[in-house]
Amino acid sequence: TITHAPAPVRTTCAYCGVGCGVVATADGKGGATIAGDAAHPANQGRLCVKGAALGETLATGHRLLHPTIHGVRTTWNRALDAVTKGFRDTIERHGPDAVALYLSGQLLTEDYYVANKLMKGFIGSANVDTNSRLCMASTVAGHRRAFGADIVPGCYEDLDEADLVVLTGSNTAWCHPVLWQRIEQARTRRGTRVVVIDPRRTVTADSADLHLAVAPGMDAVLFARLLVEIAEGGAVDTNYVTRHTDGFEAALANAREIAPSRADAAARCALTEQALAAFLDWWIETPRVVTCFSQGINQSAQGTDKVNAILNVHLAAGRIGRPGCGPFSLTGQPNAMGGREVGGLANQLAAHMGFSPDEVDRVGRFWQAPGMAGKEGRKAVSMFEAIERGEIRALWVLCTNPAASLPRADAMRSALRQLDFLAVSEVSAHVDGLAEAATVVLPSAAWGEKNGTVTNSERRISRQRPFLAPPGEAQPDWWQICEVARRLGHGQAFDFASPAAIFREHAALSAFENDGARLFDIGGLADLTDQAYDALEPVQWPLPSGRDAGTQRLFADGGFAHADGCARLVPLAPPALSAPPTAEHPLLLNTGRVRDHWHTMTRTGLSPRLAQHRNAPFVEVHPADAERFGLEDGAFAAVSTRQGQVELRVVVTDSQQPGSIFAPIHWTDANAARARVGSLVHARTDPVSGQPDSKTVPASIRPW
Ligand code: SF4
Repeated sequence: TITHAPAPVRTTCAYCGVGCGVVATADGKGGATIAGDAAHPANQGRLCVKGAALGETLATGHRLLHPTIHGVRTTWNRALDAVTKGFRDTIERHGPDAVALYLSGQLLTEDYYVANKLMKGFIGSANVDTNSRLCMASTVAGHRRAFGADIVPGCYEDLDEADLVVLTGSNTAWCHPVLWQRIEQARTRRGTRVVVIDPRRTVTADSADLHLAVAPGMDAVLFARLLVEIAEGGAVDTNYVTRHTDGFEAALANAREIAPSRADAAARCALTEQALAAFLDWWIETPRVVTCFSQGINQSAQGTDKVNAILNVHLAAGRIGRPGCGPFSLTGQPNAMGGREVGGLANQLAAHMGFSPDEVDRVGRFWQAPGMAGKEGRKAVSMFEAIERGEIRALWVLCTNPAASLPRADAMRSALRQLDFLAVSEVSAHVDGLAEAATVVLPSAAWGEKNGTVTNSERRISRQRPFLAPPGEAQPDWWQICEVARRLGHGQAFDFASPAAIFREHAALSAFENDGARLFDIGGLADLTDQAYDALEPVQWPLPSGRDAGTQRLFADGGFAHADGCARLVPLAPPALSAPPTAEHPLLLNTGRVRDHWHTMTRTGLSPRLAQHRNAPFVEVHPADAERFGLEDGAFAAVSTRQGQVELRVVVTDSQQPGSIFAPIHWTDANAARARVGSLVHARTDPVSGQPDSKTVPASIRPW
């Protein structure tokens, strides 16, 4: 039972992957005051407006309070029995691959761990995937190709200590605001230069020393040209490349094919040669360079190649793992990293292991699992296509809404209704298109009530601690999963008394038969007492047994996770759009976020202050396109793609390139009429990562 805690509680922000520490002081009336945690290394007391407004989002009037079956209130016992029966019947009739779990980067690591253990070890299918597939999967795949494991080499201090910060595919000022504050401080303190590579002229781009408004989809051309110029300019770290990498010559030959000259690269990227030259020269002449990348790189049908194009240049120049330099993935969600650590993606097992026979055997022995999945499961888009085809018949969705956020969201809404059985674990009673399709709805505990850990973009594990009691009968997700596992006959393996017990097992598995080759090792936390877990200070993994401090940086002296210890430079496919514009759909739709909202606004929508920044859905259009399509600023337009249509208010702005339009993802049928942008997005995915392209969707626009 979680009890009300009147004293200040140190926890972690509910939103982005910066993972800021928050001090929450409950007011005894269901609310709390919120302050930045000065002792948390990620933010050192800073908060952005979303974090600062967390206290305004704690009302419970919108919450699910009781379990329901077919919309009728029931007991937890009956609801959990119904979930168990729905899964058991489907497995008996159609086999384990006919059931699936769909999770979220908002879940805590402990929730994620038991969900993966249940599916991959005890149900015997790896059909467990997560909305992180829509967020960072290309980074995971790029890291694994280059480093042999999904590892961010650096830390936030690198942003403080860099002389050049390159932000590509990232509106950092809006989407990772506290990191942007750190970068701004470095600019003031040491004159750090900032380059932004983004087709849009965002607030971040406006503030940069150099903005490269790259043509949509052409980012890899830029980094291929950089690799060529690193080689031709004598900036290759020959010692590093020789001792710690493999594939340099092949990657360089490939880069020369992609970007044979500055003029060619500038033309393909729609940049002036002068602007391109400034970027190339600054990067090459600045040893302390951090290249940050986020959704503009990931959410692409060539996202993995784009990630590797960035990793290639840092490996070639040996600018990795040392203070002030390295490639840096800015994670979107608060616990996408923690989910990745426990195997939250369908193509990974727990503790960063894959599906090689050795790894399946090792995890199976550790779990004493009766039915280990022997192969990768279906990635998110493929999972829902299997639902459409009737191959997956029972689904449990926790903490996310695929009917709003997956590509082809209208089709996904229909697919959910085709299932024989759908369970939904949710916080909010007003989740568009999901609860209506569910057989069983389970009320989950929310931020401020949950207890566990998250991992931020710099590999730092932090505690989320409760300071409020859950309303009604809401329960933590980990408890719900363990109760279903127990009913399925696996009680012994899921006999966890607390999140601390789950975390200890997770940490022990990371160290199990690990001779150091698997870099994800937090064995040093495997023996935490409940009290020590509760008091755990933010710490960066790896933290193997016998060490008393985490690891700030990796790879300065090699030590990659490939069997030979070397990193790989990776040749790229020719950069191209996943689907070029057509006569019917002559524009490219780019989707993204605004500063003060998060996902589908189930939390940020509760704060009037946050709603002031952008209070209604919109589409940004360049003046030339506004004229071309007869659009007026402030009027409504119908935006159409092959997948669907929405109606949005037009914002005419030269922050867009001609030929491109931008619409934010936050509004759904629950908070605005006909504005669900997910319904426009196509299901073209990266062949390696399975991540869908939601940045360059052919679209048309007309007055409405
Ligand atoms: Fe929360 Fe991210 Fe803002 Fe930090 S930067 S307060 S983690 S939303």
